[in-house]
Amino acid sequence: MVDGDSKSHESASEKLEAIADVVSKCRKCPLAETRTNTVPGEGSPTAEIMFVGEGPGRDEDLSGRPFVGRAGKFLDELIQSLPMRREDVYIANVVKCRPPGNRDPERAEVDHCSDYLRQQIEAIDPLVIVPLGRHALGWFNPSLRITASNGKIFRHEDRVLMPLLHPSAGLRNPSNAEMLREGIHNLREAILEGIRAKREAKAGVMANSIHESAPNAIETEAASNVLAEAPKADAREAPVGLFERAQTSEEVQAEMRKQRAIEEAAEAVESEDPKVVVDDRQASFF
Ligand code: SF4
Repeated sequence: MVDGDSKSHESASEKLEAIADVVSKCRKCPLAETRTNTVPGEGSPTAEIMFVGEGPGRDEDLSGRPFVGRAGKFLDELIQSLPMRREDVYIANVVKCRPPGNRDPERAEVDHCSDYLRQQIEAIDPLVIVPLGRHALGWFNPSLRITASNGKIFRHEDRVLMPLLHPSAGLRNPSNAEMLREGIHNLREAILEGIRAKREAKAGVMANSIHESAPNAIETEAASNVLAEAPKADAREAPVGLFERAQTSEEVQAEMRKQRAIEEAAEAVESEDPKVVVDDRQASFF
């Protein structure tokens, strides 16, 4: 466990290694016949931000690592502009083997492979997922259009989606590059919204355990749509310092861990979680 970090580094890391091991031997679809290496993904097991592309290209197939070609270099530049480091986030793809000739993965290939991505998301438990490009976005929410959604914030289950154009689109067209550079800076608002989504999901679980009523899917969808159109979060709500330019990457990471720990501690107290022990001496300070 990283000091002050509410997520378990060791257990997420072990789960990701186990997934990568299964992927390395996987032959569930025809892409196994043409791949050089599987490309399971890489990055921090406790990342709060997860980037998801469609599938590996030639450079990734040769190296076994995601986003290492020219598009990957542009993605690195975008991440560093936050400021963060590539090692602070997690980068994966919907399919883990290269489709030959860089064609789009076929539906059956996505269906065979995407359970690995589901398992990775569950292990990492990020606040924000950034689908990169039309195909990755389509896997999460086929009703969204990538150009219209670039840099916007959507609720997705108990976390947040913030789609971006694929970095290769930015290499082809300067206006796309500008959209990417502008869009990625909405991650600050996306993280705050992700913290709210986690808090509400936990509150919802508690309410459901009392009322035994399922969440209303129509209301959830309506809330997602409203959020997508909503103005950006009021800066006055923002925790001090998060993603200010003067911060280093380590400070940004520490700030995110702190915010998450504060939210979880507040929830634990509200829910009278038995793990939170307040003895008489401590209670006198409240
Ligand atoms: S693309 Fe996915 S499902 Fe197909 S062989 Fe590779 S790891 Fe297995």
